[in-house]
Amino acid sequence: MFIIKGKTTDWEVVIGLETHIEVLSKSKIFSGASADYNPTVAPNTQACMVDVAMPGMLPVLNKYCVEQAIKFGLGINAEISKHSRFARKQYFYPDLSQGYQITQPDDEPPVVGRGWLEIIGDDGNPKKILIRRAHLEQDAAKNKHDMHPSKSFVDFNRCGVMLLEIVTFLDTKNPDNKSYISSPDEAERYLRQIREIARALGVSKANMEEGSMRADVNVSVRPVGSKTFGTKTEIKNMVSFKFIKTAIEYEAKRQVEILENGGKVSQDTMRYHQDDGTTSVERTKENALDYRYFPDPDLLELEITDEEIERIRKTMPELPSATRERYINEFGLSEYDATRLTETVDISHWYDAAVAGKKERAKPVANWLISELFAHPENMDITNETTENSDPDAPRIITPENIAELVDMIAANEINGKQAKEIFIKMLDGERGTIHEIADKYGMKQITDTGAIESAVDEVIKNNPAQVEQYKSGKVGLLGFFVGNVMKATHGQANPAMVSDLLKQKLA
Ligand code: ADP
Ligand code: MG
Repeated sequence: MFIIKGKTTDWEVVIGLETHIEVLSKSKIFSGASADYNPTVAPNTQACMVDVAMPGMLPVLNKYCVEQAIKFGLGINAEISKHSRFARKQYFYPDLSQGYQITQPDDEPPVVGRGWLEIIGDDGNPKKILIRRAHLEQDAAKNKHDMHPSKSFVDFNRCGVMLLEIVTFLDTKNPDNKSYISSPDEAERYLRQIREIARALGVSKANMEEGSMRADVNVSVRPVGSKTFGTKTEIKNMVSFKFIKTAIEYEAKRQVEILENGGKVSQDTMRYHQDDGTTSVERTKENALDYRYFPDPDLLELEITDEEIERIRKTMPELPSATRERYINEFGLSEYDATRLTETVDISHWYDAAVAGKKERAKPVANWLISELFAHPENMDITNETTENSDPDAPRIITPENIAELVDMIAANEINGKQAKEIFIKMLDGERGTIHEIADKYGMKQITDTGAIESAVDEVIKNNPAQVEQYKSGKVGLLGFFVGNVMKATHGQANPAMVSDLLKQKLA
């Protein structure tokens, strides 16, 4: 548990996250302009009259965007609202020429209602985090202040791209309900879950570095055991796991200090400063009245039928939590292995591609991944958070098929484990070709011919009479010594299991 030790009492931290993910779709939520993310495209070439809000333009809701929201909602075990509406949130800002954002505010039903997801809590046990809602809204344009010494520009390419905002739930009527985020680490684990669910479903890239995922972080503190929640502050627009964690920690300590000195936390919107890890008040809290919300008269009420929901449910790929269960129940992996292999969707896809439905590969492939390849992510062609690998001198990409071939050759006694490791290292060093080709090139073959192994065994027994004597008088630990010598005599090519069996027979 994450506790802040105060002068008079211990303090608990309560965290609420409002996470925005940019939804993948061909066109924007209310217009036909391209919503394809491409940072190199020229400004204002992916914006149409609706996006820049020319007078008389009308929004038309994109059905696919709604389906993406429903898919995500089902992925977080949420109720899908049969009726929902859009409203205008009015504010002036140069990057929103409409003068309002079309969104689904609190008092309108959102497409995605109450849901939950599971994280590993700080105590190591699964913990449910409740979600209050997830609603659709449009992204704003981007102000550009660095293109000219005295002018600012606006790029509307991102304006109108669909955002899904996912808001966690705090059961204020029942403060004993602990299904909320209560530490910086849990906040990170929750966000990673959101990311993996979004990616597994193809709803969003949910990549903080690229700006397709960001979070507003609400923080309050209360004395351990308190039956009410404290006043929260909200840190806006956070785009890194690391900064989110330091911001929560700083903000929680700041609040404890205020409270311990007899002060009151003011419900403010905070800004986080990356350079020194502190927060400061950006503005005092605005309330819903300031935005003059009202239902958008340009858009019809949204109706979603049960049939529609079921149709979408049937198209959903496996979610990370189900993948993990499958690894444990069908492949017989340990919980630890299954958890490691489902840390990201890219990893589990890689693993599944290598196993390719052959159960006998499940455990050895898991071992190769976890104990060898995870140390070399640059060789795995998992491009999530690493850079694209187009450099011809870049490390050789090891494919799922390579590892499948490697474990199959070991299983078929074509090479032994030691040789496999050598081949693996050669591949890391840039060796090309199939595993069979590399093995042939370096003359790595396993000797499984009993006659050849037997003569090597006989030779070793003959040359070490003293050790044979000791072994026979009970020092069976010497078996390793004999195996090692036979392996050396066969240049590491003998099948170690056969060597060991033969030695045991002959020394008995
Ligand atoms: P706002 O109207 O300020 O956006 P909301 O009630 O919509 O506030 O809540 C925003 C987020 O803050 C939600 O995730 C909610 O669970 C969380 N939250 C609400 N009250 C608190 C609190 N006292 N401490 C921490 N988080 C809170
Ligand atoms: Mg808020």
